[in-house]
Amino acid sequence: MADEFPFEISPMFEGERIRKEGMYVELAGPKSKGFELVRAVEMGEVEDGKFTLIGPDIQDMEEGSRHPLAMIYKIAGELVEADLESIVERRNHEFQNYIQGLMHLNQRYDIWLRISKDAVNKGMTSFEQIAKAIMMLFKNELSFIEKVEAIYITDLDEIEKEIGNATEIYKARDERTRNLHDEDVDTFYGCTLCQSFAPTNVCVVSPDRVSLCGAINWFDGRAAAKVDPEGPQFAIPKGELIDAESGEYTGINEAAKKLSSGEYDRIKLHSFFDCPHTSCGCFEVVGFYIPEVDGIGWVDRDFPGTAPNGLQFSTMAGQTGGGKQVIGFLGIGIHYFRSPKFIQADGGWNRVVWMPKLLKDKVYDDIPEEIRDKVATEEDVADVESLKAFLKERNHPVLERWVEEEEEEVPEEEKAPGTLPQAGFAVPQMMQAANFMPSMPMMSGGGSGGVRIVLKNAKVSIDKVIIKKED
Ligand code: SF4
Repeated sequence: MADEFPFEISPMFEGERIRKEGMYVELAGPKSKGFELVRAVEMGEVEDGKFTLIGPDIQDMEEGSRHPLAMIYKIAGELVEADLESIVERRNHEFQNYIQGLMHLNQRYDIWLRISKDAVNKGMTSFEQIAKAIMMLFKNELSFIEKVEAIYITDLDEIEKEIGNATEIYKARDERTRNLHDEDVDTFYGCTLCQSFAPTNVCVVSPDRVSLCGAINWFDGRAAAKVDPEGPQFAIPKGELIDAESGEYTGINEAAKKLSSGEYDRIKLHSFFDCPHTSCGCFEVVGFYIPEVDGIGWVDRDFPGTAPNGLQFSTMAGQTGGGKQVIGFLGIGIHYFRSPKFIQADGGWNRVVWMPKLLKDKVYDDIPEEIRDKVATEEDVADVESLKAFLKERNHPVLERWVEEEEEEVPEEEKAPGTLPQAGFAVPQMMQAANFMPSMPMMSGGGSGGVRIVLKNAKVSIDKVIIKKED
């Protein structure tokens, strides 16, 4: 059946990157609009295999151009239920990447696709070919889907009409976990979809922690594990509670060891610094430690500027992804900001010092009232120095962490050689152990002899230190 397509379809094409030079057309993405949505409907509401396109097709698009794209799939079947929508949506991401010459990134309203020139030269000239391949994969791989129909939209006006509805559906899905908490269930869920490019990634979804990609919540994980227990989403028995504050459970630790092939044996769901959740690369937001203020900043994909540490989302995402526990950085799904357990082991919102304005507006109602005006945005500060001044002026709770150290500050001439300038607080112990500081963008002032050393995004490793007595 796959022979009917003018392109190859295989998991080996996952991870294929299409750069600007090799791109025929770009669809959706940060400079355009789009979304992907799966709807579970009654059998009678689906015409199996039907494809509808609203707007121009690939062959009508100019080489090098950019267009909006929405992909809507209607699915039906005896076992199909609304909780499976997110799961099938996530598989759209996976299956699109099986197609040679097609790159699909992100999820929901953040999707970003590219079609390569090679693929078009070989005959990929219509969205119908892509949609039919995806529908074939849905039915082959997800046996609960008995009927599927696809509607693709490339007309901007039509997308704008539909996008509000899609956003409401995503929101309603996210809201479902609001009144359910980790302590109310005895099973969490895991997902291995991202292991194709981040082999040691261990994704754990609990009621209080949505997946990093933001697409899968606890209900979605449960529904997927029920219909396909051998599939990429599966149950993780919680086991014994080790520590409620950081969200450490024996069941998660066992799963971590198994899924990361022994790379990690501890994962704490609600910790930023100590044994944090791994970060694959699909995360919606990345958190970054700012040592100069002992606080944490958060930046999302949509923010095009630089954070106060002088870095953009893409740079920090590159440093954070790959399925590792990266001390000092953490990938999360936006809905995790709404969790009452949001990084509670490290101070929760009291530790948050900076976010882009749009992201802050998105989660504004979930920020504790007393802290709302204390979290800076790009409209308030431009760098670490102005951030420091802002936090002082607003009396941010993170200041309490500074006081102790400032009081104890050693006079400049008494500092030992190698003392980090301007720290003004105790760097978290596990970060010292993990040699975090050299890999951070250190933009601190100070130093000696009138020399200011600025290490941006530097990685320093020292194999051996030899101490010799001077004669
Ligand atoms: S981020 Fe996690 S939940 Fe989302 S697709 Fe990747 S592995 Fe699955």
